[in-house]
Amino acid sequence: MFEYQAKELLRRAGVTVPRGVVVAGDPTPADVAGLDEPLVLKAFGAGLVHKSDAGAVELGLRRSQVAEAASRMRAALAGRGVTAAGFLVEEQAAAGVELIVGVVRDPAFGPVLLAGLGGVWAEALRDTAVRLCPISEADARAMPAALRGAALLRGYRGRPGVDVDAVVKLLMTVGGPGGLWERLELGEFEINPVIAAPSGVVAVDARYLPAADGATASDAPATPEPPTASDAPATPEPPAGSGADFSALFEPRAVAVVGASTTRPNFGNMFLDFYRAAGMPVVAVHPEADEVSGVPAVRSLAEAAGVDYALVAVPAERCAGVVRQATGIPYTQVMSGGFGEAGRPELEAELLAAARAAGTRLLGPNCMGVYCPRGRQTFTGGGLGPPGTIALVSQSGGLAGEVVKVGERRGLAFSRVATVGNAADVTPAELLRWLSHDGETRAVGLYLEDPRDGRALYEALAATTLPVVLLVGGRSAQGRRAAASHTGGLVSDGRIWRALAEQTGATLVTSQDDLIGVLAFFQAHGSRAVTGEGVLVVGPSGGASVLAADAFDRAGAGLDPLPGEVLGELRELGLGAGSTLANPLEVPVGPRGRPELVPRVLAAVTRHRPYRDVVAHVNVQSFFTYGTAAEPLLGYARALAGAQHDLPGTRITLVTRNAECAPAGVEDEVRAIAAAAGMPVYRSMEAAAVAVAAGGRHGTA
Ligand code: ADP
Ligand code: MG
Repeated sequence: MFEYQAKELLRRAGVTVPRGVVVAGDPTPADVAGLDEPLVLKAFGAGLVHKSDAGAVELGLRRSQVAEAASRMRAALAGRGVTAAGFLVEEQAAAGVELIVGVVRDPAFGPVLLAGLGGVWAEALRDTAVRLCPISEADARAMPAALRGAALLRGYRGRPGVDVDAVVKLLMTVGGPGGLWERLELGEFEINPVIAAPSGVVAVDARYLPAADGATASDAPATPEPPTASDAPATPEPPAGSGADFSALFEPRAVAVVGASTTRPNFGNMFLDFYRAAGMPVVAVHPEADEVSGVPAVRSLAEAAGVDYALVAVPAERCAGVVRQATGIPYTQVMSGGFGEAGRPELEAELLAAARAAGTRLLGPNCMGVYCPRGRQTFTGGGLGPPGTIALVSQSGGLAGEVVKVGERRGLAFSRVATVGNAADVTPAELLRWLSHDGETRAVGLYLEDPRDGRALYEALAATTLPVVLLVGGRSAQGRRAAASHTGGLVSDGRIWRALAEQTGATLVTSQDDLIGVLAFFQAHGSRAVTGEGVLVVGPSGGASVLAADAFDRAGAGLDPLPGEVLGELRELGLGAGSTLANPLEVPVGPRGRPELVPRVLAAVTRHRPYRDVVAHVNVQSFFTYGTAAEPLLGYARALAGAQHDLPGTRITLVTRNAECAPAGVEDEVRAIAAAAGMPVYRSMEAAAVAVAAGGRHGTA
């Protein structure tokens, strides 16, 4: 499609393009008589993609110069072996800020809108914002504002600002609901540049490359199918569809374990032990033995009665054969690796086909399984933790195990944990959809490496009302290589994940520690009906207080000024002698401090301004300067717990800086006091800031 045809598409969609004429031969004065000067001459033809590079654009022409310029251009192009099929002569738009607006199809997430500084700057600056289509009007406003060059749009050095509303309207026309992106056979679509000026926007160049394979927005799968080899068996549709009820996955009546050995204990034997310890009714599947590790055995899955969940831990080549016998068992987990992630997609396709044929939903392959204290489901030793409200879906079994163990140590209690490995059948998106309506779950953590169903994930994230915390592995080139050898997944541009989080309200974290920390925040404070706004930090004075302000700034949580009316009251309480009172608010906290001072300060402040979040930090080390008595610190924790009780509309979060200086056991006592009062505890201001900022996105119901 030539430029003038792409522009016609835009014009019909309501986008302003320059007035112009298209001529097959050389333009005559009569052809351009109706156009206002100055004029732009552009050649079009096969192979003419980057016109400027080929010398196929000339600006600033008078009507009388066009004919001669055209014959010169035609000759110059011919000299380079390019045949001009014709010319577009159009009016030259007034100068302004040149922007690029485009739509590309991401292999996992589908159509993505891109906007940034365009024209000659586009390549050099790479200053662009991305959003998944369809965008909302809020997204359309956020995109130009997010550019490093946003100041150019607002006006600079005496130049007026551009018509931002017109930019927003253009972005909606291209990427909004019902926009051009839905009608294009993407490929690639790009307006570069669109010239933004105080009077509006004009699209002066447009390029449209339909998808090479002819896939269209309406009939192409938004996400790639699981890898299928040409010789693999045809795969029927999943039996339960997208509305699967995963209750039995997490709370099966009984489980079967395939692959445990009577001679050489392996993963299967380990799981038999885990299940017995958890009190889960379990049966082993073994070709000869009547009993494995003290568990009764049957010959095949087909003989396992009353079982809702089968765990398969046999070599990859034999998995499909086993899964084919799982008829009547709603869920089958394939623990074994050696499939798509190991460069054997045909084996994975065969496995999926076997599961579909048997009518069982497949978890994995290459995954650890399910953990649910309520349902006695487990993949770890050391007993079940307490049932709780936090769910986790992870593409890494190892990471899930760590989050469960470390999280429980830090006070998390889980509702449902599922590892999905290669996610050949059951995907994170499908689980998230179900968890959103699971009465037991109040917040969800996701660890992903391969957004196999990126578009479905986007839709599930957009639909859920639960807070979701997203940790994505492989966002760096280095991490991608690590992930590629891990689940066989490829993670797209890191900016897409940020866009996904911004568009859906999910919190994107960068470490396992923050994943646990933010989930702990939602567990502690999730059911509180917050009334206030903003964040107040209180604690001892000094550099830590200054650094706190920086940490919250980095996390994107502003510290709002103290209400002026309370300053007198605070001075009466003895604060701010010889210094200004500000946020962070410096309050003496230590072994000789009065434990009730902070609660009194909070009561005074929140009477005038009900803050959404209060972060109370202590220097644990200072409490043990004169001895090892724990009482002053515990007394302060109890006083804060009292304050949290008295301020139900404010979330209080405790930061125990330098907690390693406390005598053994004291930190746990502090955590227990805080947990009983529904306050999360962090060891660092940075961790607290990330969690409080995440909480800000779910501040009020
Ligand atoms: P290319 O194929 O090289 O991208 P363009 O059509 O974008 O060719 O033209 C190159 C540059 O010329 C644009 O970036 C823009 O600065 C300018 N330009 C092109 N057409 C017009 C026009 N109608 N009005 C004003 N400037 C134009
Ligand atoms: Mg261009």
